[in-house]
Amino acid sequence: MKNSLGRSRLIPVEALVGNCDGSRMPEVRPGLLTAGGAQLAADVCPTAALALERYTGGLRLRLDYGKCIGCGRCHDAAPEAFIPAQRFTHSGVTRDELIRTWDLSDGREVSGATTPESVRAEIHFLMGRALNVRQLDPGSCNGCETEIAALTNPCYDLERFGIHFVASPKHADMLLVTGPVTRNMADAVRNTYAAVPEPKLVVAVGACGVSGGLFIRSHAVVGPVSALLPVDGYIPGCPPTPAMLVAGILEVIKRHSRKSKPSGETTGGIPELLNVSDPA
Ligand code: SF4
Ligand code: SF4
Repeated sequence: MKNSLGRSRLIPVEALVGNCDGSRMPEVRPGLLTAGGAQLAADVCPTAALALERYTGGLRLRLDYGKCIGCGRCHDAAPEAFIPAQRFTHSGVTRDELIRTWDLSDGREVSGATTPESVRAEIHFLMGRALNVRQLDPGSCNGCETEIAALTNPCYDLERFGIHFVASPKHADMLLVTGPVTRNMADAVRNTYAAVPEPKLVVAVGACGVSGGLFIRSHAVVGPVSALLPVDGYIPGCPPTPAMLVAGILEVIKRHSRKSKPSGETTGGIPELLNVSDPA
């Protein structure tokens, strides 16, 4: 016990934001992206996360991180153009922002990305605030739960951000929902959401929560989380790594606090989400 505690190392905040080591989600090397390589990768992608699209000017590659299960097949099919991503800045964003597109005529990325710097700049602002999270699993394989459980270990230590997991939705500010929503759990999802006091945030976690993942065509599945609940942020991955979860939760809070300030002011905190009886 003493030895294992001695070996555990708290991961610095800066190292968490933008880190996706181990997720096996692809990064595209635009300079080496060809129509042939893109087609090979799209052909082996089991969830259609990779797809070629025709438009008037030619051909584009579309990568939907919300559907990617990190199987690595695209890395094998076209290793020059698809490599395992080390940095990832698309956690906790909107559904549209999980989709990236490259023009195959010149490899240019058509859509933009959130920078880690933009998240890091507000971490200080977020530290010390209390946010209560209720995790909800209406159909996950438990892979996402394993990673979520790691958030409370001494390496990731989610509590240092003032973020706590709670047992009851009545005490929660945020629902962290994993898995596709199964028919048997649909009512439980609606009831849990109704039990969370306003204002509340919903975050869809994992390829299943974001898009239904591999199970979207199952007769037992209603759909992704957005089929039942209004979703404030998406964290992709199968499963997302703890670092992606931390970055995603912080990004959702940051965006919500911005939205709640019409003037664009960001230094006033997130009073709507504060549980003043439970300071960090
Ligand atoms: S790693 Fe993701 S994008 Fe690549 S083949 Fe697998 S599911 Fe598709
Ligand atoms: S996203 Fe992957 S790890 Fe998470 S519940 Fe779905 S299959 Fe399991």
